[in-house]
Amino acid sequence: MMALLEVRDLHVAYGKIEAVKGISFEVEQGQVVTLIGTNGAGKTTTLRTISGLLRPAAGRIMFDGKTIQNTPAHQIVSMGLAHSPEGRHIFPRMTIEENLLLGAYLRKDAAGIAEDVSNAYSMFPILGERRSQAAGTLSGGEQQMLAMARALMCRPRLLMLDEPSMGLSPIMMKQIMDTITQLKSSGTTILLVEQNAQAALSLADQGHVLEVGRIALSGRGADLLHDEQVRKTYLGEE
Ligand code: ATP
Repeated sequence: MMALLEVRDLHVAYGKIEAVKGISFEVEQGQVVTLIGTNGAGKTTTLRTISGLLRPAAGRIMFDGKTIQNTPAHQIVSMGLAHSPEGRHIFPRMTIEENLLLGAYLRKDAAGIAEDVSNAYSMFPILGERRSQAAGTLSGGEQQMLAMARALMCRPRLLMLDEPSMGLSPIMMKQIMDTITQLKSSGTTILLVEQNAQAALSLADQGHVLEVGRIALSGRGADLLHDEQVRKTYLGEE
């Protein structure tokens, strides 16, 4: 079976600094794949390059069988690849509903959009309760939910999430992880970047450990979770 996303020998540099030094991985339809690793390992750079926000120095990115590393970002979104960025990037002065609708700006099917807004509110009831309030009044975790819900509004074939648990309380984090599990069981394909290795590996089919721009280790999520080296380095065990 052809992978939905295929990344081959990807290199990305900021000037002379090579942040991603030849990584390869695949995401198959229906899978949750996670990239874990410490600060500066190159996770965010990888997602931004897949989204078309950065251009690779070398390598190949294929989405649904098409080469996309030279495709403009807006066109990549319209192909069904959505990115919920690190730091959320919601629009604080716009209402929650307006933020959600921005995620559907490429769509013209009013009925489908209305249905998806209502799905977002059932997935995240707090967003529905506050739909007419400025998004900036939401807590950090709630803003994270809004960013995820907005990314889902384009009905993506692949959802990329950059550190959805960042800065969240343990309760909020559990809620976000439960939502990802729910999305997975409804068939959404997800590429998840996380510093919280425990949470990410627990729900991922496949995981890759990034170390300074390279994939140091790959395996099934459950296997990596029990790998001694991973436990020592990323799960803080002695
Ligand atoms: P974090 O979890 O801290 O975001 P990360 O794994 O996502 O880490 P990246 O943000 O991709 O890592 O950063 C990879 C490397 O590239 C780091 O050494 C970082 O300092 C460098 N880097 C990132 N953005 C830039 C930039 N705009 N200009 C120069 N160097 C950058």
